[in-house]
Amino acid sequence: MKTINVQSSCDDEEQTGTLTVEDALRHMLDAVSERSTTERVHLTQAVDRVLAKPLVSPINVPSHRNSAVDGYALNSSTLPTNLNITTLNVVGKIVAGHPYQSVLKQDEAIQIMTGAQMPEGADTVIMQEHVEIEQNLVRFDSRHSVGQNVRQAGEDIKQGQTVLETGVKLTPPQVGLIASLGIAEVNVKTAITAAVFSTGDEVLSLGQPPREGCIYDSNRYSIISALKKLGCHVIDLGVVPDDPSRLKEAFKLASNSADIIFTSGGVSVGEADFTKQVLADAGNINFWKVAMKPGRPIAFGHVNGTTFFGLPGNPVAVMVTFYQFALPCLQKLMGVKNPLITPTLKAQCTKGIRKLPGRTEFQRGILSQSDTGTWQVCTSGQQGSGILRSMSDANVFIILEHDRGNISVGEQVNVQPFSGLF
Ligand code: AMP
Ligand code: MG
Repeated sequence: MKTINVQSSCDDEEQTGTLTVEDALRHMLDAVSERSTTERVHLTQAVDRVLAKPLVSPINVPSHRNSAVDGYALNSSTLPTNLNITTLNVVGKIVAGHPYQSVLKQDEAIQIMTGAQMPEGADTVIMQEHVEIEQNLVRFDSRHSVGQNVRQAGEDIKQGQTVLETGVKLTPPQVGLIASLGIAEVNVKTAITAAVFSTGDEVLSLGQPPREGCIYDSNRYSIISALKKLGCHVIDLGVVPDDPSRLKEAFKLASNSADIIFTSGGVSVGEADFTKQVLADAGNINFWKVAMKPGRPIAFGHVNGTTFFGLPGNPVAVMVTFYQFALPCLQKLMGVKNPLITPTLKAQCTKGIRKLPGRTEFQRGILSQSDTGTWQVCTSGQQGSGILRSMSDANVFIILEHDRGNISVGEQVNVQPFSGLF
């Protein structure tokens, strides 16, 4: 049987004192490293996957010179000067996918559609709106320049050029870009595996009948959903009661089968906080008090080499700590080299907000646009850390910085849209 070996990643002072949000995140990021290996997937399965090798273009894009507009292709030596007019014979029409088989002569023009290959002998296209047509003659004036409306071969991407770097989490336009190179399969990093369990004698799984004094587990479902959206494999270990031997068993199972473990509950100073006891028995882990609200108590470390996040019990605290701490660490474990920077906006408060200096607060807010187009925000109802409704109704975190005090009506605050997070 594997024993639980828990390592510390911060010094004694930090284990007993209070950490700022920034310091806590820095310690966590310092303690995790990439866990994934490589696999090949078809491009249709590649969105949101992380590139495992640089992607080099095997071809020029576009592969041939082509017209950027619907118009008339011609040789620029025929362009008139001053107020003169040129008249050329129109010798046919080229559509995309059907190249012209001969060389265009100097006194000839040819009708050409957008994307169609430029014929040899032509280097310029005049938009159809800028010419006069009479039977098979085309007439144009001097307001045109050499080479206009022509897309050159390799103008977008040159053959041999690195198009995307290792560690890029592929977006839909990037998948399109790869397809435009004719590449059907890509090397991506394997998904990481996360084991999740909830703790608490009072916590019921869905399907269990209601019991006096008990609550339904929400944390496991929100955490698992968040992990799935990030592309993790999830091992659901259910609810583990406040019983040291059961908790020890769960940690053993989780650390043997996953790259990262998430638990919720049992990390604060309370009688039933067995997570702490069990892990303290087994070794040394960080039980931090982070200067934040919600989410003050949080456990972090490694169990048998597996990264461990002991998130708080309160459902809102779980979501806040997951997105502020676990998300950046998961991106590092997955090998994402350019984590999407979660954008923040400045918005004007439509109501005052009470805030104590000395901790970072992540209030839940509703962001909207005023009639004049400025961003405005108000909190989404009751802000207790157990009131998940406040998150479910919100569309942003209102981030109130460590040193800030009460916020008055009309003051600017930083907000972090959920759409950038999940
Ligand atoms: P704890 O840190 O274990 O004392 O939990 C703090 C609060 O969160 C208590 O009110 C718990 O009942 C609640 N809680 C703990 N785990 C869950 C869960 N999985 N789902 C919903 N609420 C929970
Ligand atoms: Mg508990």
